[in-house]
Amino acid sequence: MSAYTRYKASLRKKEQTHQTQRINASMKINAGCKICSYSKCADALQWHHTNPDNKSCDPTKIKTLPRLLREIKKCVCVCANCHAEIKAGLHPEYLNEEEEVKKELQQSLFEKD
Ligand SMILES: [Zn+2]
Repeated sequence: MSAYTRYKASLRKKEQTHQTQRINASMKINAGCKICSYSKCADALQWHHTNPDNKSCDPTKIKTLPRLLREIKKCVCVCANCHAEIKAGLHPEYLNEEEEVKKELQQSLFEKD
């Protein structure tokens, strides 16, 4: 493979990644935050895996559309603030049982101190 062919192939890959992430951004805007309905800025919207055991990777790092769609099916769209609230346990409906157990364990550890 010539240097030029490799160069063209790398450009195609970069463009594919860019296009996938543009679609990711518009899907986040269309979905909006499931908790507070925020939908102004795609960068402030995140995919939350309702079951972290099913998480294969971070959707923002996915380079191809089929993989992105597969990953997003396991997620709900939430804004950064609501995502932090989910992680803090303020929205238990978005945490799976295992995370709730972890949370209870952490709380029981703090209560001992
Ligand atoms: Zn929100």
